Amino acid sequence: MTVRHEGGCVCGAVRFLVLGDPERVTMCHCTWCQRRTGSAFGTEAVYPKDRVTVSGEALRVYRHRSDLSGRWLDQHFCGTCGTNLGLTLEVAPEVRSLPAGAFDDPAFLKASGIPFRHIFLSSSRGWADVPDGMEAHEMHFRPGG
Ligand SMILES: [Zn+2]
Ligand SMILES: [Zn+2]
Repeated sequence: MTVRHEGGCVCGAVRFLVLGDPERVTMCHCTWCQRRTGSAFGTEAVYPKDRVTVSGEALRVYRHRSDLSGRWLDQHFCGTCGTNLGLTLEVAPEVRSLPAGAFDDPAFLKASGIPFRHIFLSSSRGWADVPDGMEAHEMHFRPGG
């Protein structure tokens, strides 16, 4: 049986359920992720869309369109408390990301069993070190992505 993991926003109005481990965890140090999270980088657990179920209050969405690519990216958040609840991307419609910190018990997200990847280190603020041996890229890991 596939392991289930749950999470949600700080006020409890929105909950989510995922099946199994994410395909990868991406820590993005781009300036846009710094701003949207208010932190050193965004930490996204990337799931196939069909393994994510969201319940409770309807998510609010802010659609950002890239000046460079013209493609959209949806930022999902709780309309009551504003908690960041992940992303969907026009460029990768098959996936849904959830922020690692929004899981009730994020301890299952371990670099030993799941690919962890730091990207856009070119704009890292240096507030948090990348552990030795962890996959790291100056820009995106997917050329053109
Ligand atoms: Zn909330
Ligand atoms: Zn980013």
